[in-house]
Amino acid sequence: MKEINKILKKAEDSEEINQEEALSLLKVTGKDFFALQQVADQICFEKKNNLVTFVINRNINFTNICYQGCKFCSFSVSNKNEESFLKNHEEIKEDVIDAKRVGCTEVCIQGGINPELDFDYYLDILRVVKKIDSNMHIHAFSPQEVFHMAKIYSSSIEDVLKELIRAGLDSMPGTAAEILVDDIRKVICPNKISTSQWIDIIKIAHNSGIPTTSTIMYGHIEDLQNRIEHLQVLRNIQAETSGFTEFVPLPFVSENPVLSKLTEYPLKASYGMADLKLFAVARLFFNNYIDNIQCSWVKLGPKFAQVSLNFGVNDFSGTLMEENISKSAGADFGEYLTPEKIIDIIRSAGKHPAQRDTLYRILKNY
Ligand code: SF4
Repeated sequence: MKEINKILKKAEDSEEINQEEALSLLKVTGKDFFALQQVADQICFEKKNNLVTFVINRNINFTNICYQGCKFCSFSVSNKNEESFLKNHEEIKEDVIDAKRVGCTEVCIQGGINPELDFDYYLDILRVVKKIDSNMHIHAFSPQEVFHMAKIYSSSIEDVLKELIRAGLDSMPGTAAEILVDDIRKVICPNKISTSQWIDIIKIAHNSGIPTTSTIMYGHIEDLQNRIEHLQVLRNIQAETSGFTEFVPLPFVSENPVLSKLTEYPLKASYGMADLKLFAVARLFFNNYIDNIQCSWVKLGPKFAQVSLNFGVNDFSGTLMEENISKSAGADFGEYLTPEKIIDIIRSAGKHPAQRDTLYRILKNY
């Protein structure tokens, strides 16, 4: 208790907490758990003035064909699978028109690593969006996709990003991070880019003027120390580039993926308190580094996502529409929350709802 209080006092005084201290906080229970909650909520309250934001956006998953074979993924299929799809630019255009119709300020575009696609396919997606609405913010393509584009375009990451920016890219999701510890990556996503490749691509994006989110996919075979190592990687990058807009903890959805059946790597169960501790610790660990901590209502469910707003979370993510990735993994929650529903959830948590754009500029207070 005494030791925990000391760490919490440091955080309250805006001092940096180190990895060992963060690890101790991830293990708290009982009164210490509530003390952690209070400090995270207080820091968040002071930093954000009790505001909880959301963005009106839609997801566009343009293909589920992918041969990367990530063990946690139930979204990807081969091109022989009857459920496989690849959207053409006409279909993507319809999605963007739909997004504009419901007032979206952002489209979030990601897909599988589909070998049938050439670099022009990706560039044309961006051009299609900007042709429909030059003000629509394009949040697109994970570091893994950018890496793939560099391969098929036989070019450097820098040059690929230059082309993407020229075609309309505004920001990138910091996905494909999963856990930035190579021993874990070798098991859960053996064909994905390594930790150092992920870091390099993200830094190049930031230095090219492309902000990104930062994410963690947790609650599978990693341990608490791995989670903290991951947070440290992100904090180091942010200290150098200031390019992360937010941190998004993504709990592993275990219902369908192969990873849940690997007997040699049993899942380490992660329950609700572990989720809440991670959110709160992220708020403290990233204090003065990453301003925004986002909950994923698609993964957590709207009710638990609301609870997270008392644990250092200040952003409720977006309206989404068409969220296929979590659903394929077995998540129970819907594809779309209306802005009205989100406002209601935020307000009934005692927070002030506000609509933001992708870069966290406030568009409307409610
Ligand atoms: S997580 Fe992404 S890269 Fe990995 S298999 Fe699924 S779609 Fe492919």
